[in-house]
Amino acid sequence: MTDIKSLSFDELKSALEGYELKRFRIAQIYKWLHVFGVSSFDEMTDLPKNLRNRLSEEFCIPSCRIENKYTSALDGTVKYLFRLADGEFVESVIMKYKYGYTICISSQVGCKMGCSFCASTLAGFKRNLLPAELESQIHAAQRDLDVRISHVVLMGIGEPLDNYDNVIKFLRTLNSPDGLHLSLRDVTLSTCGIVPMIYKLAEEDMPITLTVSLHAPNDKLRSSMMPVNERWGVNEVISACKAYAKRTSRRVSFEYTLIKGVNDSEECAMQLASLLKGFISHVNLIPVNNVVERENKKPSDKAVINFQIALKKFGINATIRRTLGSDINASCGQLRRKKQETLTENGGESSENSCKNR
Ligand code: SAH
Repeated sequence: MTDIKSLSFDELKSALEGYELKRFRIAQIYKWLHVFGVSSFDEMTDLPKNLRNRLSEEFCIPSCRIENKYTSALDGTVKYLFRLADGEFVESVIMKYKYGYTICISSQVGCKMGCSFCASTLAGFKRNLLPAELESQIHAAQRDLDVRISHVVLMGIGEPLDNYDNVIKFLRTLNSPDGLHLSLRDVTLSTCGIVPMIYKLAEEDMPITLTVSLHAPNDKLRSSMMPVNERWGVNEVISACKAYAKRTSRRVSFEYTLIKGVNDSEECAMQLASLLKGFISHVNLIPVNNVVERENKKPSDKAVINFQIALKKFGINATIRRTLGSDINASCGQLRRKKQETLTENGGESSENSCKNR
């Protein structure tokens, strides 16, 4: 079975050559897949039945089925645990802002990066998500909530730059006028700092916002929190970000997760300010979310504000990330992990269709 939803329009045309279809038919199929986000050929109601049958014998449509859904009573944030065709799980979160709906999507099943404070890495890395599965998270949420999602952040489970080709293909589809037609300016990609891929991304001519998970202002501390730093140190990451900003004319953001007694001192704020001096960027401060298996503690609200004030004193503007969905455990990686534990206890479940993953 070939994954039809990960094909570009031209690839779809080639894949359907033997069908001898008129161009409008191919456009109809593409629209069902990418605008309406259907998960079966039967839903393509303006195609002749025999064509639908033939397509379903040769192709599959990787989709996201809602396994669990949690809605925050506090702010309406919705979190989904999605089941993929092979029985794996990923998470997405939908947040409502003044300017519309934003979805935070996963890029991989699990993560290899091993950051010490993160839940996504605990359940182990399984595989990359396909372009279709990246997109299907948006379709599944839009269809379930009956809303249009206008902003996408690649900040869920996984490291998007470790699934580079599929992420780029997904972004091109997302931006296509024949698909969801989202502006790439409304897309944010968050990375732990895979330096060569930041340079590569800069060459794609995509006006997406890059945000880098920095979390520490020096190599010693950063390496103790993020193994990736042993490969590409703080200075290399900052140089890559500067090159990205120069090439794309886009402002780069930095995520700084504050952990009590680890990286929340005034000395850290001073080092961070000196690292970013003269670089027009933005710092997002995130009080760490407690992950059951991790020992990290959230600093007090006062300590978070003090860190922000210290940065300002040294000339760096920072915002404190507003917490959304705090009553539904909205930080990523935790639902998948819980689900896996339950499945292991019950002896596991088998996958349910033959949609092959690359
Ligand atoms: N791999 C990418 C994207 C996924 S993580 C990256 O590293 O950027 C998305 C963001 O959540 C990152 O900034 C990550 O460091 C942060 N994060 C992970 N676990 C967290 C936790 N327990 N509390 C607060 N932020 C966390």
